[in-house]
Amino acid sequence: MTLPGQGQGPALVPGRDCGSCSLCCILPDIAEFDKPANEPCRHCLPGGGCDAYDVRPSTCRDFYCLWRTDPTLGDEWEPRLSRMMMYAQGPQLTVLVEPEAAAICREAPYLGELEARARMLKPMGGYVVVYAGEAVSVVKG
Ligand code: SF4
Ligand code: SF4
Repeated sequence: MTLPGQGQGPALVPGRDCGSCSLCCILPDIAEFDKPANEPCRHCLPGGGCDAYDVRPSTCRDFYCLWRTDPTLGDEWEPRLSRMMMYAQGPQLTVLVEPEAAAICREAPYLGELEARARMLKPMGGYVVVYAGEAVSVVKG
């Protein structure tokens, strides 16, 4: 996947920032860095941040999770609160959940929102896939 940054990218939702969140430096596998899923990138700093920030690759510079770019996602989706991050690839929505909080995506208000998005994406051939540790599931729309 591509990954967080302050470089050129999509329009960002005003008033939202990454703060101390590092979920997108932890949850995804990043082939470019040989980084496995659910392990912090070797450049993660304790408490958040990147020790290679000024020279981080474009894969990091250009990435923002959906909470940063989609104003229709409510504040309850802030990754530090929801314990998950989402990103879109065409009509596919990928949800990465902190393994130790895997159940949260099956609870309100998150499950209902994921189901609604699955229904919305289905006519476009899209779907919502959830990764939580070793578990992978597709949300029914
Ligand atoms: S998951 Fe989203 S809010 Fe968290 S650091 Fe990445 S882009 Fe920022
Ligand atoms: S290089 Fe920096 S921004 Fe990129 S994944 Fe690693 S810690 Fe995150």
